[in-house]
Amino acid sequence: MAAMSALICDKVDPILNKILGDNGIDVAYEPEITPEALLEKAADYQIIIVRSRTKITANVIERATSCQIVARVGVGLDNIDTKACEARKIRVLNAVEGAMNAVAELVLGLMLSMARHIPRADSAIRRDKWLKKELLGSELRGKYLGIVGMGNIGKRLARLARALNMNVMGFDVAPIDQEFSREVGLMKVDLDTLFQSADYVSLHVPLLDSTRHLVDSKRLSLMKPTARIINTSRGGIVDEDALYDAIESGKIAGAALDVFETEPAIQNRLATLDGVVMTPHIGAQTGEAQGLAANVIAEKIVQTVRGVI
Ligand code: NAD
Repeated sequence: MAAMSALICDKVDPILNKILGDNGIDVAYEPEITPEALLEKAADYQIIIVRSRTKITANVIERATSCQIVARVGVGLDNIDTKACEARKIRVLNAVEGAMNAVAELVLGLMLSMARHIPRADSAIRRDKWLKKELLGSELRGKYLGIVGMGNIGKRLARLARALNMNVMGFDVAPIDQEFSREVGLMKVDLDTLFQSADYVSLHVPLLDSTRHLVDSKRLSLMKPTARIINTSRGGIVDEDALYDAIESGKIAGAALDVFETEPAIQNRLATLDGVVMTPHIGAQTGEAQGLAANVIAEKIVQTVRGVI
């Protein structure tokens, strides 16, 4: 393999560094690199690797004259100008497999948090308040979960939810695998039916023009007053103003959000509502997911360099 050099721009699991090194790739690890320093150094590397912090803009690509591969140790490619890469025939790689179990498990955690009011119970007890009578919860068993986007994460969630004896409905613009549907007892429904009948709606679609504000006031008005939304996909898929109004007016019971229209979601008024649970974009933040993503992307880079994929 011809000697190549890679620049890792964000904090990643050390296994990535090791696998690339073992395969003869020189690695520069600069997890705190500034945008200015990246512009200066971009020309020196054939491979540029990022997680979420570093943005690979058209400017970076213009400077990265030797670049052949841009890799993201994660799923979404929102921080990479993929069009600029395509125009220069730079391969863009990501690690879809890494996060699927981590995100699906977070959804379970968020559903249980809402159903049993766990965050409110915890914060009250820390303020010496014993809210036993007020915090009457509900169970997930027998409830209807509607999954929008039956890709990697949606499918994993369907399996986990079945293990909790939930009834699972799914919607996707692409055909959903028949065998998978049979195996997990998935009910395929249209989007309006899903919003009308679900107790929990969980979103697992990419952010595209066609999915921006997919959950708007019209869709929210279809939901049952006891129903709740979970968004661990991307901020922007839910219209946060419409969501605030729907929860505040009691049209729906609540929501759990891991992703927001503006991140970090500081001073977000949804945080003033009791029915809302919020986490700071931690869907893929597990040691296991980071390790898996680093392994997957390392293998993809090595295979691409060898011309295998
Ligand atoms: P995936 O590509 O495997 O699945 C996405 C699915 O959405 C596909 O099956 C696609 O056909 C479907 N889809 C696209 N447009 C649709 C529409 N308008 N209506 C219904 N379905 C539609 O992706 P994935 O790995 O399952 O990831 C799903 C989402 O989770 C992505 O937005 C990703 O960025 C996000 N994600 C978030 C975190 C986090 O930290 N919270 C971590 C990983 C991934």
